Amino acid sequence: MLTRRTLMQTALSTGFVPVAAMAAPLKNIVIASSNGLACCRKGREALDAGQDTLDAVIAGVNIQELDPEDTSVGYGGLPNEDGVVELDSCVMHGPSRRAGSVASIRGIKTPSKVAKLVMERSDHIMIVGDGALRFAKAHGFVEEDLLTDRARLAWLTWKESLGSDWGPGLDAPPDQHGQARLLERFPNARPEWLAWAREVAADPPTGTINCLGLNTKGEISGCTTTSGLAWKIPGRVGDSPIIGAGLYVDQDVGGAGSTGRGEENIRVAGAHTVVENMRHGMSPKEACLDALKRVSRNYGDDLERLKAIRLRLYALRKDGVYGGASLWSHGNRNDESTRIKFAVNDGGKSRHEDAAYLYERPA
Ligand code: ASP
Repeated sequence: MLTRRTLMQTALSTGFVPVAAMAAPLKNIVIASSNGLACCRKGREALDAGQDTLDAVIAGVNIQELDPEDTSVGYGGLPNEDGVVELDSCVMHGPSRRAGSVASIRGIKTPSKVAKLVMERSDHIMIVGDGALRFAKAHGFVEEDLLTDRARLAWLTWKESLGSDWGPGLDAPPDQHGQARLLERFPNARPEWLAWAREVAADPPTGTINCLGLNTKGEISGCTTTSGLAWKIPGRVGDSPIIGAGLYVDQDVGGAGSTGRGEENIRVAGAHTVVENMRHGMSPKEACLDALKRVSRNYGDDLERLKAIRLRLYALRKDGVYGGASLWSHGNRNDESTRIKFAVNDGGKSRHEDAAYLYERPA
């Protein structure tokens, strides 16, 4: 029987190294941020069906973009400070070495598809704001209201917490002042939305989905898509649509992407840094940790200042080795439910794997 060992022995005795002896056969693999279990499954099934790697990852992230329950991506995403949902996304196609991106686009549920359209049907890489919406509509996308009741409740909760003129006035009867009264404006609200709304109003969450896919031919592509930072200044653009920050793919090496506080990731050109680290021999995990060290360095490694920063990087190398790393081991507090993970599917069901981390979140 021809085993890896006999192939290697043949290689050593004849000096001829068969390709199969140099690397294990590739599998279809899709990795994503932790919200991407269904995305990875969808992407891997698309790869199994022989679809292009970029189409596969876009099919995967479309699940989150269209899911109103995911309040960090696409339809249902948390809005900007004016209560308007603004989306960012970019794509990179390894085999053709092309890229496309949209930023601050309003009214389109699936910005990842518009990013691909920018790549395929324009001579540009990035289109933003109203221009991006008009470009999408010219290609048949339908403009829709992306603000769900749940996201609107959270935005109003934030708005009324600012001590501005929003919320019950000085002359309002005392029983109007409780936050719960706000719920009356949302007949379809679920009671648990209120506690969640208070949480996200106090600590604007990060979210996003990044997805990378590799097929058995060694072709690789990626996509990142997000509604960005909640309550942002209108027009603010994070790292997600920035080629080299929120996503980078080099067909010769592999791909990387990020989720979390985009401002930090842009300053270290995170995804590009990770891919370059892999080019120079680091494993995906080491490559991500090294990029995170640069983020830490930007704060003089001061853990007090770094504690508010959430940032995660994901990497998939061309030979199928993958990894993920986070600045902190856990979300805001240290308990098992908040350990930082990422999603993987290389056959069968998707699974979560623990991300490596730079700093252990104190208990
Ligand atoms: N990276 C995204 C941004 O900065 C947000 C996130 O991942 O939550 O816009």
